[in-house]
Amino acid sequence: MEFTISQIRTYIQSQDSMGDILHNLSETNIIKAINEKKLDYLEDDLGLEIADYEILDGVSFIDGNEFSIGFDGFEIGDSLKDIEDAADIVSCCGDVVDRDIMICPTCKEHI
Ligand SMILES: [Zn+2]
Repeated sequence: MEFTISQIRTYIQSQDSMGDILHNLSETNIIKAINEKKLDYLEDDLGLEIADYEILDGVSFIDGNEFSIGFDGFEIGDSLKDIEDAADIVSCCGDVVDRDIMICPTCKEHI
């Protein structure tokens, strides 16, 4: 995987010392640092309630409905509307909701 200068900067800033920067340097830890910064963006800047996350995968958040999105599905600075449009809406039963129907696929409740 290739990283941008901005992503590498995010990793460096996530580390406490030059020793840590070198010792912890791996593709996985760079991705973790980028995703942690995205998590902070959703929580602190957009004020969302984080329902769940896997730091190498994606995040669920509450904004009326529960939404689920991969960390690669949005960037810091994206508007809440853009992020919600790109995210899946999660139903009461944990399924992805078809936006054209807005009914839980399992229990058939309206979302
Ligand atoms: Zn349901």
